[in-house]
Amino acid sequence: MLEKIPVIDFAPFREGNASTRNEIASLIYRACHEIGFMYLKHPGIDSDKVGETFKQSRKFFNLPLSEKNKLAWSDELSNRGYVGVGRERLNDSKPGDLKEAYNIGKEIDPTRLNTAQPSLYYNRWLERDDRFRDTMLDFFSACNNVAIEISGAMAIALSLPESFFVRKHERQDNTLRLLHYPPLEQTPSPGQLRAGEHSDYGSFTLLFQDTVGGLEVRNARGEWIEAPFIPETVIVNTGDLMERWTNHVFCSTKHRVRIPQELRAKQSRYSIAFFCHPDRDTEISCLETCQSVERPPLYPPITAGDYLLSRLQATY
Ligand code: CA
Repeated sequence: MLEKIPVIDFAPFREGNASTRNEIASLIYRACHEIGFMYLKHPGIDSDKVGETFKQSRKFFNLPLSEKNKLAWSDELSNRGYVGVGRERLNDSKPGDLKEAYNIGKEIDPTRLNTAQPSLYYNRWLERDDRFRDTMLDFFSACNNVAIEISGAMAIALSLPESFFVRKHERQDNTLRLLHYPPLEQTPSPGQLRAGEHSDYGSFTLLFQDTVGGLEVRNARGEWIEAPFIPETVIVNTGDLMERWTNHVFCSTKHRVRIPQELRAKQSRYSIAFFCHPDRDTEISCLETCQSVERPPLYPPITAGDYLLSRLQATY
C-alpha cells in the first residue's frame, strides 16, 4: 500500500510508444487505487502560464471586497463567480473556511444560449480587465488539454478504450477555481482550518499550489500526510464521482488545508484548482471493468448533473 503520494513523470505518456504509455498508466492505476492522489511531473503545461495565472490571481484577490462582491456567486447551478471568506463550509460541524475563491467555467458564446437557460452559465468578469479574462480562459483551455491526456491514461489504466472518459467530458463542464487563504490576523477558533476536511465531487482535480504549504491528505492507514509544493508538477486527485463510477477501484481521498505554524500563518496561501466533471447528461453507472460477481456495483446509476447539484447544495 502506498503511504506517500507518488511522483509520476507524465512526459513519457505524452511522447512514448504503446508499452511506455501502458507503464505510466499502471503507475497511475496504483496511485488512484491506493491513495487517490499523485504528483504528475511535466504535465504538459507551461510553467510561465502557471506563473502568470498565479500573478493574476493575487491581483484579483487584492481588489477591495466591494469590487469582488460585484462578481458574487449567485446560486448552486451556476457555480461561477466570487465566494467570500467563511461562506463555504466543507465540514458542517466546523466554523466556515478561511478562504476566498473565484470560479469560472467554459466561456459560452451568449448568442448561442437559449432563453430557457438564462444567465446561469455566464462567467462573471471584472470590467475593463481583459488581461485577467484572457489569462483565465487561456489557463482553462491549457488545463482542459492536460485533463484530456490524463483521462486517456486513466481509461487505459482501467482497461477501457483510451477515449472512454474523453467522450464523457466533451462539453467541458469543468470549473477553474482560484483560491486565496488570507493571512491570519488573530488566533483561529479551535478546529478551524484553512479548508476543512473534504473530498472532491467530480471525476478528478488538477491542483497547482504555491510554496506556503498546509495541504494534507489522509492515506489508507488514516494518517494525515503532507502534500508539499514540488516544482514542475501538478497534483491530481480522483473525486467522489470517479470513485462511484469505478466501484471504488479508484478512491476519492479526504484532504484538508491546515493552518501552518507561526510566521507562515501570517502569509497568504494561493492555489489554483481545475475540477473535471463529466457532461451533465452522462449516466454514471458502474464501469464494466470494475465489477464482477464478487464485486457487484455498489451504487445505482445517476446522471453527472444530478450528482453534482446534490453535492453543491449540501455545501453552501
Ligand atoms: Ca479539494
